[in-house]
Amino acid sequence: MRPFLFCAAIAYSSLSGQHAFDLRIQDRTAQVAPARLRATVESLASFGTRHTLSDSSQPNRGSKAAQMWIINHVKSLQAIPGSRLQLYEERFKAGGSGRLPQPVELVNLGAILPGVDSSRAKEVLVIAGHYDSLPSGPDTNADGPGAVDDASGVALCLEMARIMAAEKPAITIYFVASTAEEQGLIGATHLAKRLKAEGFTVRGMIAVDMAGNAHGISGDTDNTTIRCFSEGVPSIESEAQKRLREALGGENDGLSREWARYVKRFGEPYADNLDIWIMLRRDRVGRGGDHTPFANEGFPAIRFTDTFENYDRQHQIPRVENGRRYGDTPDFFDENYCAKVTRAILASFMHLGNAPAPPYDIAIGGNGTANTKLTWKLPDDPRISNLVIYRRRSDTIHWQKTKTLPKSTELTLQNVMLDNNVFAIATVDTNGNESVPVYPTALK
Ligand SMILES: [Zn+2]
Repeated sequence: MRPFLFCAAIAYSSLSGQHAFDLRIQDRTAQVAPARLRATVESLASFGTRHTLSDSSQPNRGSKAAQMWIINHVKSLQAIPGSRLQLYEERFKAGGSGRLPQPVELVNLGAILPGVDSSRAKEVLVIAGHYDSLPSGPDTNADGPGAVDDASGVALCLEMARIMAAEKPAITIYFVASTAEEQGLIGATHLAKRLKAEGFTVRGMIAVDMAGNAHGISGDTDNTTIRCFSEGVPSIESEAQKRLREALGGENDGLSREWARYVKRFGEPYADNLDIWIMLRRDRVGRGGDHTPFANEGFPAIRFTDTFENYDRQHQIPRVENGRRYGDTPDFFDENYCAKVTRAILASFMHLGNAPAPPYDIAIGGNGTANTKLTWKLPDDPRISNLVIYRRRSDTIHWQKTKTLPKSTELTLQNVMLDNNVFAIATVDTNGNESVPVYPTALK
């Protein structure tokens, strides 16, 4: 079939940040229960410590006891009527150096919701929080309740799994409680490398690490914003990709940055009073998280973290010193704040989990002419109903305009100067579920 050609007196609609509202997704996000988030955080904190090397001989204390709680919790989610969840339990050996001097058996836990599109069986989404905690000092059995860091992230993942239990997304979703984040991102690294080695494509990964502390050490009190960290320039780039980025100016359009903007665009409308800050950094200054190993494998991976951290409540044995209180205890956890973050991420996973496969081989050209020309290829996905062209001026960070096109493979924008605009293209189904927009991968 001859591809459609659109010439370009087309008008773009302005992007307000408010996307088409999906009532079914609204219904799911309304099910996020702050009390359930709190109950999970209190249960995990009740094990005293979840240090990776804590004593595993006690039934109600330490990492092993917390693992059993998570497994039983997932089993309870499998018992929900219509639940399609599978128990995720991935055991492996690690250590022998660094913060794990002796080799030990570790385990990532959680749930898997299988995708229903068999032609996309190798595509996944991943949401992760780490279940291990860290006290201050070297004693691996000292109290480290880790309520916000990161029982809050685990609670968010399990609450998403509960609400999505009977869903039938096109692609598979992992709800992960990861191990040994505090010993060097060991659990997330294992999963990212395994997925890569087995030929999976991760369409989007989010690490939620601290979602629920509303009182910063700076004195700021805020539960209406959340930081979303993403790298602009990809961690891994071939020499050809680097040359293309330098030619196109793609420093703000790596896979992870597009994914971050997607979560803001599709998540915020379902989370009242939550503003997602798109941080133009890979992570907090000098630090890393469970998203990092996924980005290192070339996957779009981002991190959500409270806007104002409180270091008196991170990696501390609970105590009072000189009238100052330390410790990451559940009374500092704001479940309504965590619920808003859960709603935003849940909505973006519902959208992307059901979206068609994205376009590929996108080329942009027109240099030396008055026009901008885009060409692309479409996957053989019958659910693609339309395309969405994203556009912004080259001096801006966020997408400014969108234009919906029928299924096609090229577009010429007349009298639109190539240098002054940035473009990306997404596929969309009849329900408005969009792929993450794809930035041009070739210049012609
Ligand atoms: Zn953490």
